[in-house]
Amino acid sequence: NTFGFRTVPETERQGLVNAVFSSVASRYDLMNDLMSGGLHRLWKADFVSMIGAPKTGRAFQLLDVAGGTGDIAIRYAEASGPNATAVLCDISPEMLAEGQTKVAAKGLDHRIRLTQGNAEALPFPNGTFDAYTIAFGIRNVTHIEQALAEAHRILKIGGRFLCLEFSECQVPLLDRLYDFHSFEIIPRLGAMTAGSAEPYRYLVESIRRFPNQDAFADMIRGAGFERVSVRNLTGGIAAIHSGWKI
Ligand code: SAM
Repeated sequence: NTFGFRTVPETERQGLVNAVFSSVASRYDLMNDLMSGGLHRLWKADFVSMIGAPKTGRAFQLLDVAGGTGDIAIRYAEASGPNATAVLCDISPEMLAEGQTKVAAKGLDHRIRLTQGNAEALPFPNGTFDAYTIAFGIRNVTHIEQALAEAHRILKIGGRFLCLEFSECQVPLLDRLYDFHSFEIIPRLGAMTAGSAEPYRYLVESIRRFPNQDAFADMIRGAGFERVSVRNLTGGIAAIHSGWKI
């Protein structure tokens, strides 16, 4: 008996997603390390280096959407100058609570503000931010076009959109290994550590449903972004999409 995510009506999807993240919030970081074999750390380091945050005292404002437990915002704050700040926005109070604890433990409260919000209706005025990031988040959003339109709206002219997401593995054999990992290993790891395989079946299914590199790049262009580019990570298991508001 799977989550049957494919057949869930659109109006109920976000509720299911929220249930998944509220139930895994306290184990989320551990699960990430376990299921990706630590790979997500390398991908995130790569991703954050593309933000181009100033190392000097110049002001810079990042919006990290679906920021969860803070991996992107914290790495960014640690790698940038004192006036580079971030707003972390996530729909899940439980994930935000984990994030707040981590931000405080790193002494970054004055650089990172956490707030609840939906990627499809961001609670910020037009033209506010220098960069927008979303890591392993957009896949969970019901109306992706709407989230992209919101990203475009809240960016300043000259601002950059960056998305880190699972994508289509483009290396023969690695793709077979990845399938085995997705369908055999991940649900078992989920059952062992979280007591239930369902959230992880959802995870795998949502990855398979997400548009591939080219299709997603087209959607980003469709939202009005320019100079859209894609960078594959680990043979395309994940990819970084970039676009500029010009
Ligand atoms: N960015 C973090 C990372 O890379 O570790 C967390 C990614 S986690 C897989 C996905 C996050 O998306 C969860 O924290 C979830 O609450 C959030 N989320 C799901 N739907 C959302 C929405 N519509 N708007 C904002 N955040 C959402």
